[in-house]
Amino acid sequence: MNKTISIFILPLILLLNSCFSDKTPVSPYRDADLEARVEKTLKGMTLEEKAGQMVQLTISVLEDDTHEALDPAKLDEIFGEYKVGSILNVMNGRAHTREQTAAMIRQIQEKSMEKIGIPCIYGLDMVHGANYLTDGTIFPHEINLAATFDPSFARKMGEVTAYETRAAMVPWVFTPTVDLGRDPRWPRIWEDWGEDAYLASVMSVEETAGLQGDDPNHIDLEHVAANLKCFIAYSMPYTGKDRTPAYIPMHDLREKYFAPFLACFQSGALSIMVNSSSVNGIPLHSDRTLLTGWAKEETLWDGMIVTDWSDLNNLYERDHIAADKREAIKIGINAGIDMIMEPYDKECCTILADLARTGEIPMSRIDDAVRRILRMKYRAGLFDNPVWDTEAFDKFGSKEFAVDSYKAALESEVLLKNEGVLPVAKGKRILVAGPNANSLRTLNGGWSYTWQGEGDSYVPQYNTILEAMRNTFGEQNVIYEPGVTYDLSVNDWKRENKPEIGKAVAAARGADVILVCVGENSYCETPGNIDDLNLSVNQKDLVRALAGTGKPVILVLNEGRPRIIGDIEPLVKAVVDIMLPGNFGGDALAALLSGEENFSGKLPFTYSKHINALHTYDYKVQEHREMMDGEYNYDAVMDVQWPFGFGLSYTTFEYSDLEVVIPGSDRESASFKAGDVLKVSVKVTNTGSVAGKEAVQVYISAPAGKLDKPVKELKAFAKTRKLAPGESQTVEVSFAAADMSSYDESKPGWVLDPGTYNILVGASAADIRATASIDVK
Ligand code: BGC
Repeated sequence: MNKTISIFILPLILLLNSCFSDKTPVSPYRDADLEARVEKTLKGMTLEEKAGQMVQLTISVLEDDTHEALDPAKLDEIFGEYKVGSILNVMNGRAHTREQTAAMIRQIQEKSMEKIGIPCIYGLDMVHGANYLTDGTIFPHEINLAATFDPSFARKMGEVTAYETRAAMVPWVFTPTVDLGRDPRWPRIWEDWGEDAYLASVMSVEETAGLQGDDPNHIDLEHVAANLKCFIAYSMPYTGKDRTPAYIPMHDLREKYFAPFLACFQSGALSIMVNSSSVNGIPLHSDRTLLTGWAKEETLWDGMIVTDWSDLNNLYERDHIAADKREAIKIGINAGIDMIMEPYDKECCTILADLARTGEIPMSRIDDAVRRILRMKYRAGLFDNPVWDTEAFDKFGSKEFAVDSYKAALESEVLLKNEGVLPVAKGKRILVAGPNANSLRTLNGGWSYTWQGEGDSYVPQYNTILEAMRNTFGEQNVIYEPGVTYDLSVNDWKRENKPEIGKAVAAARGADVILVCVGENSYCETPGNIDDLNLSVNQKDLVRALAGTGKPVILVLNEGRPRIIGDIEPLVKAVVDIMLPGNFGGDALAALLSGEENFSGKLPFTYSKHINALHTYDYKVQEHREMMDGEYNYDAVMDVQWPFGFGLSYTTFEYSDLEVVIPGSDRESASFKAGDVLKVSVKVTNTGSVAGKEAVQVYISAPAGKLDKPVKELKAFAKTRKLAPGESQTVEVSFAAADMSSYDESKPGWVLDPGTYNILVGASAADIRATASIDVK
């Protein structure tokens, strides 16, 4: 199907200008009364109080010798003497109950009010539900929610996280991660929404709205302040190792990496955290252009910027761009940092005050930073309610929230291959094998009860994959022989015990089908660095040996990033990537494998096949070019395991009746402005024999211009409702004309080249089912 409409742009220059201003908003959430209260508080503060407000310490500086209670003398010192404005992290490095957490923070807050008269803002990494409470609700990680291609799940996770976090007396969370996961080697891929800037923007805005509620200027007692991280391009280290430098062309930085931040600024996100490393040679914590220029001045965003963990220290200890701590603080604050996460060192309060006294940091900069911090505290409602009744949260840890998490897991697990083996009929004998088969830790990943995710023992009530398979298929039908196991006696998630593959092969004799659950154990941040993206040798050997039995093998990938499996994939009959689906991920998988539920998840990243060919779907033409004229073999081939947006179902869908309209435009003498909206509609029909949902994706491919553009880019998506066999739904999406423009750093500005723009509607980036085009003249 191919349709063309022509558009004449009048006048082009207006489009360029308004394009740019469309992308530079004025903060829509100013409240004069609130601003007056901020100013009044600021006026009454001493320099020492201002410096203290700009510092955030970790809870361990307040713990007593047992590490399970606060030390009253330390409380007096930190709030009485140093006037510290914020505390983060969990006591004793692990999750506690809601009640314990709330009681501990109440103590802190009462001390802060007594000694400073300004509430402390407590921040926690609640990145996939209430992952730092033993009795809260954990959701699948962001990468899974992206795979649902349904933003309502991101909003729901935000809402539940906010509610349960507030119930523990915490008003601020360090989430969402809005950076793009475009390099599978990076160990924090699972913390973000995958490789696409548009998908990440939509999901981030929805999660932020779920967290902060409808009015980010007046956050109520069921919502919390959000913190976007990690500004900017933290996710693209050149080496693939966490907290190492990124080198990114300016147009990619603008078009892709900045996009989700900008979208969230526009929707009122209250704070951001800074990239621990450097971009294009400048450590972000010292980069005035990006922190003050892009984040604050250009957008007029009035939120607050906090450093990442000890990263001003890193300016001198690691990067050597400062001679000492004092100079590092000066550089960072002058670059635009408002709050220093300097976890263990209260002395930076003293240094800060001194830098202001000597004028090395202008008082105007100090006041701007404190104003932003106070504004966030006012917006989070802390001046009106420094503490609140945490008993009143009767939906905390409820069945309702558990069902929300389960549904998200169901729609996030992606069926990548199925050669007639799924669904598995009840009554079949199933061998369950692999190191991820009987572990909750692997389902939850990092940031679960502890930083590195070793939390199984806190939540024995949830089901591993093995337990869920037994519940669904009957205890007597499920044999368990792992073959490969992780070595949990050492502090290294990668370590495996001596494999016992022979035992698993022997057990396969009694089975009709083999479910082999492989992937990664949990990890977080730099400890997750790897030297080889291939799945571990033992795990690949296990799959080979099990496939060698001749029994059909279903490969389950339970991993935080797409580990390479190109050599074993041909040996198995089915593949399901469950990523990190959370406490209900095993139950969801069993329901999907049995056919009680249907798959509808799609990959939010390109699954690479070869270690030297790590691609994204929005690659440049040079990346896929085999022969040039004559003898020259270019030999650049896009050969990926599975493309972005790909995912199978137990049913099939047909696409028809594609329409693209620009309301208000007259096709004959058409003009089209940056604010114009393209409306795309397409009919999707379930042509199979079971009910299912389909994630419809709308890409554009832009005409050649001066810039080297991506071959295609996602501009809209929508998921159908559950369609019965034979049932149709007309899916309607829209996007702004300005969204088709590219950033030209030589101007600098946004340009919309004349030529033909193809609108590509499909089931994945590589499965385009209907096209239309717009000629821009
Ligand atoms: C991580 C952040 C986290 C912060 C506070 C850092 O090490 O990079 O993602 O929010 O610690 O725990």
